[in-house]
Amino acid sequence: MTILSVDIRKKTYANGCCAIKQLRFSAQPGEFVAIVGPSGAGKTTLLNLIAGLDQEMDGSIHFHTAEERRANPRTSFMFQEPRLLPWLTVQQNLELVLTPQQRSRPATPVPALLAQVGLTGCAAMFPGQLSGGMQRRVALLRAFIIEPSLLLMDEPFQSLDAPTAQQLRLLLQELWQRTRPTVLFVTHSLREAISLADRILFLSGQPSRVILDLAIDLAHPRSIEDASVQSVHEALLKQHPQLLGGQIAANQ
Ligand code: ADP
Repeated sequence: MTILSVDIRKKTYANGCCAIKQLRFSAQPGEFVAIVGPSGAGKTTLLNLIAGLDQEMDGSIHFHTAEERRANPRTSFMFQEPRLLPWLTVQQNLELVLTPQQRSRPATPVPALLAQVGLTGCAAMFPGQLSGGMQRRVALLRAFIIEPSLLLMDEPFQSLDAPTAQQLRLLLQELWQRTRPTVLFVTHSLREAISLADRILFLSGQPSRVILDLAIDLAHPRSIEDASVQSVHEALLKQHPQLLGGQIAANQ
């Protein structure tokens, strides 16, 4: 069953910049899809269109659930910055995305959820009192707390040091395996994509389209340092040396 079908014939901004042309793909329920492409390819534009934050385009984006075609998915969006509200405590930041009913009768109390992501005792703290890595943990938990069917992630670990980013990738895999939303994860790091995704969509340079749709058949959880991740990385760049520049080898 397809849960998400994207068929963007053309996305042009008001200034005439054509960011996307003939970009098509679909995703299955619970699939973890990474989107890799050169800077300026149109990755953020694509996520904004899928999230409905931008609706100006020629094409269609459909979301299906088992019950209903074209349903409105419960969607979470995680950005490069954690985007927590600094005047609210960690607990209040998390409760903000819950319905009043979930807030008054949570399935699991927020402090217990915080403990599950390594943030025991942080409920009453303010974002400014947390490290960058801890703020990302809160942002990850906020993304998952509504049990989304679609999770959109735009380079969420980009500005972190390597060990912190790796801890967060492991946490992401754990949370994803628990609730299984369909994930679209934008990154420009091929290693990061291989270490997380079931499938990687490689985009061309602007205007972007999918130039390669690659399944990654490795067991989760994975780390960026795993030998299996390194060997897929090496083999792929050997076969397509210009892949990260948005081009595949001519004979493919
Ligand atoms: P990426 O996320 O892959 O780096 P973007 O989606 O941010 O790429 O941008 C794709 C192209 O669209 C770029 O050429 C960028 O300059 C252009 N672009 C993005 N946002 C706007 C906008 N609001 N108005 C005009 N052009 C834009």
